[in-house]
Amino acid sequence: MMTTFLDLNLNKKVQQAISDMGFEEPSPIQAQCIPLILEGLDVIGQAQTGTGKTAAFGVPLIEMATNARHVQSLVLTPTRELAIQVAGELRKIARYKRVRTLPIYGGQSIGHQIKALQQGIQIVIGTPGRVLDHLRRGTLKLDKLRTVVLDEADEMLDMGFIDDIETILKETPADRQTLLFSATMPPEVKRLSNKYMSNPKNVTINRGEVTVPLIDQVYYKVLERNKLESLCRIIDSEDVPLGIIFCRTKRGVDELTEALISRGYMADGLHGDMSQAQRDRVMKKFRNGEIEMLVATDVAARGIDVENVTHVINYDIPQDPESYVHRIGRTGRAGKHGLALTLVTPREFKLLKMIEKETKAKIVPREVPSLADVAER
Ligand code: ADP
Ligand code: MG
Repeated sequence: MMTTFLDLNLNKKVQQAISDMGFEEPSPIQAQCIPLILEGLDVIGQAQTGTGKTAAFGVPLIEMATNARHVQSLVLTPTRELAIQVAGELRKIARYKRVRTLPIYGGQSIGHQIKALQQGIQIVIGTPGRVLDHLRRGTLKLDKLRTVVLDEADEMLDMGFIDDIETILKETPADRQTLLFSATMPPEVKRLSNKYMSNPKNVTINRGEVTVPLIDQVYYKVLERNKLESLCRIIDSEDVPLGIIFCRTKRGVDELTEALISRGYMADGLHGDMSQAQRDRVMKKFRNGEIEMLVATDVAARGIDVENVTHVINYDIPQDPESYVHRIGRTGRAGKHGLALTLVTPREFKLLKMIEKETKAKIVPREVPSLADVAER
């Protein structure tokens, strides 16, 4: 049976906002999670990347928000970019209901955030480090919190936020509602849910198949010394309108960005050593289509949802299956097709096979185009 947004009995203002956003039907994770969350239950939502997990908690958070001018919900996200993105989506859902949302994250003036918090914010979306900072200063109070959301929980734990998260949870009322969303469910996430959630309902969509079928997955065998040349030939033969290229290190990002720019590609880099202002500028250019290729480390690209990303290229193969799933999940979003290309050197071949086995994905081999192939285009 198909659930519609009407079946969810939402407030008219929320309903209108969702329809303005162009959402016609709830995605499966939304159809299943929204009623449970509205009932006040703790929920663990697990679904592939790009399946609408943000609105799965965002819609009920806004629906349940009252006029009371204190922080009612807190959403924790692994990165600054994601905090901004989630806040943006919640703001759209809250448009007619006038629920006040605020992203708080490191790298932005804390004074500005303190002022904003004094305005009676109802939903805070933040990174664990900055949320903790505000808690310690007494500029954020969570004593009347109703719901806490751990978004992209697997990534937050990967990034070493476990202590921060536990400290923050201890500052919230014991009878709060706790929601946890994740694309993967590694043991650390299970442990966190056992410890901090009460009788959570599990909603798992597409069990056993972690990557999205709309993403075609390909690998190229390349030699380490030919990687740059191979990448350029692949880009030239593929025609990449909007792509994200992943490198293992920050230095690798800088070097590859330089190399691509000097060869005339519209590229720019993104990694954790850049200032927040720089990162925001690059993301803006990427969203506007001013650059065609974003070269990034894992950390910088976590959770990012940019419309119409057509290609994800693993210039350096990810070190584990979870990272692979997250990287390629930057494409093939919201029902669109995507292509994930992975460069593999001979000594990384075993790693590729392990990723393929763990993710149950089909990653098919393809030859690096010859110079002649590229010249023909
Ligand atoms: P996830 O957190 O699962 O990776 P997101 O919440 O970032 O996915 O959603 C991916 C994209 O799908 C976003 O651009 C979002 O606006 C869009 N989206 C979410 N729900 C719907 C829906 N019901 N109908 C159409 N598009 C949707
Ligand atoms: Mg998400």
